Amino acid sequence: MQSEQANIIPLVEGNKIINTTCAYCGVGCGVQVVVDDENRRLVTIQGDEQHPANYGRLCSKGSSLGETLSLEGRLLTPRINGKPTSWPTAVDKVAQEFKRMIAKYGRESVAFYVSGQILTEDYYVANKLMKGYIGTANIDTNSRLCMSSAVAGYKRAFGADTVPASYDDFDHADLIVLVGSNTAWCHPILFQRIKAAKTLRPQLKVVVIDPRETATNEIADLHLPLKAGTDVLLFNALLVKLAEHQVLDPQYIAQYTVDFDKAFASANKDVGDINTLAARIGISDEQLNTFFDWFCQTPKTMTCFSMGVNQSSSGTDKVNAIINCHLATGRVGKEGASPFSLTGQPNAMGGREVGGLANMLAAHMDIENPIHRQRVQSFWQSPVIADKSGLKAIDLFDAMYEGKIKAVWIMATNPVVSLPNADKVRAALEKCEFVVVSDCIADTDTTRLADVLLPSLGWGEKDGTVTNSERRISRQRGFLPAPALAKPDWWALSQVAQAMGFSGFNYQSPAEIFSEHAALSAVENEIAYPSGLRDFNIGGLANLSQADYDALQPIQWPVLNKASQGTARLFAQGQFYTPNRLARFVPLQYRQPVNLSTLDYPFTLNTGRIRDQWHTMTRTGLTPRLLQHIGEPFAELHPIDAKKLLISANDLVLVQSPWGKVVVRAQINAGQRQGSVFVPMHWTSVLSSEARIGAVVNPVVDPISGQPENKHTPVAVSRFEAAWHGYLLTKQPITLPPCDYAVAVRIQNGWRYELAHQQKPHDWLDWASVWLNQPQGERLEYQDIGLGLQRYAWLKDDELQALAFFGAESNLPPRAWLMSLLNQPIDKLSRRALLSGKPADPNADVGRIICACYGVGEKNIQRAITQQNLKNVAEIGKCLKAGTNCGSCQPELQKILSCCLSPA
Ligand code: SF4
Repeated sequence: MQSEQANIIPLVEGNKIINTTCAYCGVGCGVQVVVDDENRRLVTIQGDEQHPANYGRLCSKGSSLGETLSLEGRLLTPRINGKPTSWPTAVDKVAQEFKRMIAKYGRESVAFYVSGQILTEDYYVANKLMKGYIGTANIDTNSRLCMSSAVAGYKRAFGADTVPASYDDFDHADLIVLVGSNTAWCHPILFQRIKAAKTLRPQLKVVVIDPRETATNEIADLHLPLKAGTDVLLFNALLVKLAEHQVLDPQYIAQYTVDFDKAFASANKDVGDINTLAARIGISDEQLNTFFDWFCQTPKTMTCFSMGVNQSSSGTDKVNAIINCHLATGRVGKEGASPFSLTGQPNAMGGREVGGLANMLAAHMDIENPIHRQRVQSFWQSPVIADKSGLKAIDLFDAMYEGKIKAVWIMATNPVVSLPNADKVRAALEKCEFVVVSDCIADTDTTRLADVLLPSLGWGEKDGTVTNSERRISRQRGFLPAPALAKPDWWALSQVAQAMGFSGFNYQSPAEIFSEHAALSAVENEIAYPSGLRDFNIGGLANLSQADYDALQPIQWPVLNKASQGTARLFAQGQFYTPNRLARFVPLQYRQPVNLSTLDYPFTLNTGRIRDQWHTMTRTGLTPRLLQHIGEPFAELHPIDAKKLLISANDLVLVQSPWGKVVVRAQINAGQRQGSVFVPMHWTSVLSSEARIGAVVNPVVDPISGQPENKHTPVAVSRFEAAWHGYLLTKQPITLPPCDYAVAVRIQNGWRYELAHQQKPHDWLDWASVWLNQPQGERLEYQDIGLGLQRYAWLKDDELQALAFFGAESNLPPRAWLMSLLNQPIDKLSRRALLSGKPADPNADVGRIICACYGVGEKNIQRAITQQNLKNVAEIGKCLKAGTNCGSCQPELQKILSCCLSPA
């Protein structure tokens, strides 16, 4: 394994540096890699100072990319029904089964479900095969869960899925409004950029609009903790206020837009009695008026929105409510002034470019438009072209459950974890006659249900392009050889296409595919206007040679010709992509979320990401460093709710909806809105017994975008009563014990298993020994029958091999010190203290890790603040280094500092 601080080691002069792009979020940071030892897959990583997305910075996830390159857990050979096979056999099986289903049930009986994790070239081939050759649009992507409301909103307003601005605009804005975005944790490098801009220009104000108080609040001048789902009402009211304060831009409205009057009338009606508005939104009059005043007074305003807006049954309306306010003030595509969607995934936008969503054609063309269909078909010279939208994600798996989809190919995604009503998704895949899964990882909740598994290349092996939130196309470059039989997804798709008898798939390289994709974007896209006929035009990148493709520098589309340096902003002078080139205001009325809380389900569930994990943890879960901060699934509750429910921090809680349930650890946080509960999205059945929150989420979708309402599910919350709690430490991974609560956490020298169950084992020692695979060596033990304590430790040659602690309550000894002893020589003092769980020297317990980069724990930080009289985050950094690398932990350092300096 690479060093704990891989990112901090400067790249060695003279070694070959490979420029590539981070595998995680939509910020799309540039990464530089030096391969230190190809055989052992050891690399050194640092941020690319030249890349305009990050200028050298990386967050905790990006910094740890080098620690995720081992082959542990990889899928390395094709498998049919669990048995290894060759590629020709697997390809033939997939092709024949798809052909059989199409012949027997029709082309609408097959589907692809792909991912914002795959590269644009993979996406292009998947879309071409499904829409142009198989002839159905039943290809959808997990970007449906991420960006489809933003896409639909942009298309309604601008006539195309066009993000009008750049990250550079954050450096020029005087007001940045972050709506439904925990930017500090989900787009950390953008958060750092905004924070830096604020330091440079203290007049820059930041407003955070989110029901929760999150780490992003660190830079908020104003927080609007609005009632979940009321965004349309808030922005409708803002539109009315803009008119009242006479800050509309009549010239922009008249020259470049239509339907302002309709949108304004609708907003006015929606807002109704202005005196009750704040209460309906759930905030104070003062908060509301301050927001209105700041927005009215600040021409250079950026409104950035993310999943809190998109993942809603009115997600598209929320997007348009924001865009309406920007159109009304002419704040679109101007320096420091635009609406701006923050993309979740590394290539959600690349997928949109090639038509990876079921309701889009390639190169931002429309399935419903016969001219577009004809254009794409004749460019592809394909036998057929899909002539209507396919099934969007939720509908696709519903159709599978109903037996209408007979064969599916899932690529680089884990829908059994990530989709709403995930137990039904699992049942749908169990029913589906033929399931193909392409993945890097052998064992996921979804691969467990596959008939055929196809091994994909992972980050660092594959080659292609991705597009980030600001329309910037960057190269992901391979720097490690393909392991065993793993192959690029575009190759697997092309092989299957050819085995199905289709021509047009004889690709030899991603460069060739990219060139075709770029050429298609320019077909009949003449430059009749300064911005072309269709927004997505990268004709300037068509016909790149392999060398040019290899050397491709990050560039923002449109790229109309070879000399173009890309396009930073669009629409300052109108030229939208509607038929009359005018932007459309959309008349809107606020709608409540579909499923409101009830007597039986009185809480509102909100789901989302945490700082150091990515999606279903198949990559970030490989590095102990990223599990130090938060290692267990949790439910965050407001203290008043917790008190009413008799729940304390670290208790276990049952969160239950009509669709499913989870058992997770309680966290109490006054920043949580009363009546709501937050549970992270990351945990799977591979890592936990019952923490797949997707199983709890309601399967409601936005009627236009089809994006699910992941942010609003009615749930019941109660204390989970277990007969015992415990944890195991072990050097080797073990089978997850069959407990009501069981979570596997990778730690520095092994694994930790957090457990709780309603039935006690007959014999504690026996039980622990069985699940720990009969640990060897000297056994230390301690029992207190009255307190229900059972503690065992196994040592060999004075090194801790394994440990098992059990108790009647959840308040077991802290883990940090004990974990640090695993697989280490133990001195006499530590040996004596071992079963107490408390080190003889209290300084030896660093507490929960806050700074993942330098492994700095909470207790260390608290001690330093009080003993060294530290007054700010910078001083903590100077003293302990915490927060001085990626900066992701700075909001939490600030929180700890505030608690120490003014304890409640
Ligand atoms: S912000 Fe972090 S996760 Fe996102 S692209 Fe940059 S380094 Fe990767």
